[in-house]
Amino acid sequence: MASKNLEKFLKENLQDLKSRGLYNVIDPLQGANGAIIKISGRELINLSSNNYLGLATNERLIEAAVKATKKYGVGAGAVRTINGTLDIHIELEKKLAEFKHTEAAIVFQSGFNCNMGAIGAVMDKNDAILSDELNHASIIDGCRLSKAEIIRYKHSDMDDLREKAKAAKESGKYNKIMVITDGVFSMDGDIAKLPEIIEIAEEFDLITYVDDAHGSGVLGKGAGTVKHFGLSDKVDFQIGTLSKAIGVVGGYVAGKKDLIDWLKVRARPFLFSTSLTPGAAAACIEAINILTESTELHDKLWENGDYLKKGLKALGFDIGESETPITPCIIGEETKTQEFSRRLNEEGVYAKSIVFPTVPRGTGRVRNMPTAGHTKEMLDKALAIYEKVGKEMGII
Ligand SMILES: *Cc1c(COP(=O)(O)O)cnc(C)c1O
Repeated sequence: MASKNLEKFLKENLQDLKSRGLYNVIDPLQGANGAIIKISGRELINLSSNNYLGLATNERLIEAAVKATKKYGVGAGAVRTINGTLDIHIELEKKLAEFKHTEAAIVFQSGFNCNMGAIGAVMDKNDAILSDELNHASIIDGCRLSKAEIIRYKHSDMDDLREKAKAAKESGKYNKIMVITDGVFSMDGDIAKLPEIIEIAEEFDLITYVDDAHGSGVLGKGAGTVKHFGLSDKVDFQIGTLSKAIGVVGGYVAGKKDLIDWLKVRARPFLFSTSLTPGAAAACIEAINILTESTELHDKLWENGDYLKKGLKALGFDIGESETPITPCIIGEETKTQEFSRRLNEEGVYAKSIVFPTVPRGTGRVRNMPTAGHTKEMLDKALAIYEKVGKEMGII
């Protein structure tokens, strides 16, 4: 017998979302998430994936995944700490540590899971966490799970961070204090002010935690935001994902050997959730090989990012202050932003609108993620469509 109470809750809330136009309808892809995608039988220029380097469809990764699947099977069979650790998991962790210039690394099933496990493994109710107000949802949830006191500071506002770090330190209330930030903020494409954050951390003895999901493979010639600033030995936790630029799935923490050893006995998703599939682990190893061999894909990503930005700017669009290939196109009002995205789609460009509450009210935007997989022709076509729809709607 189904719960009447649950039925009522679901019906009312779904209705409410739908009536306010906030119910997200998901469009399934009829093929790979490449530079061109197919939805409902239509081909569209894809500007919404995190597949920055085009590795999701790279032949070498596919080959590696198939080979490993044939050797090890489709599943790892257990959690890492029982007998779900395969030699390729260890090989991947070694490669990641080398790539990140750290002593060691630990792999999780996703970037989200890293934050679920790593924060709470070291922070508890007697501690405090200074958290940038625009940090990713998984950081927010990981902080909550730890039960530490969460102190939010204004986005990339170093005076606010310093003031709050000082107050937390001087209160004498906390055993440990951590500062936690995204490396690259995904909504605007801006980079965390890591040199200043490290300076403040050193002054007030803070643990430093950088989630570089959008920086890995993109900044620091691929090694990420921390490497970009030359701070590899100054950041305690470097989180990365294997699901964005690396093109597969998974996440990792890179850091000192003692930290990684501790996470292997305390981070709960590592202990209680089955490890990365063999195919995914092997594909990730191949991705790191490719990034280590050459910066070709990285360079192409930046070239395409710069090209798209220059094009949109020349057309008169407001593209914000991005410092990375992430290119927001700020429209403003919520329904107008959604309409803009819908019109782009009709004309052949897939670029999702992002509106309140994900971004502040009145700053609705269509977010563009150019990748190394796009050609100049695709970007030119996308720009022509932007021009057409922008003029039609009186935005430019
Ligand atoms: C995308 C993202 C994650 C989640 O990574 P997955 O591997 O997709 O789970 C975590 N943190 C940040 C900052 C992200 O942008």
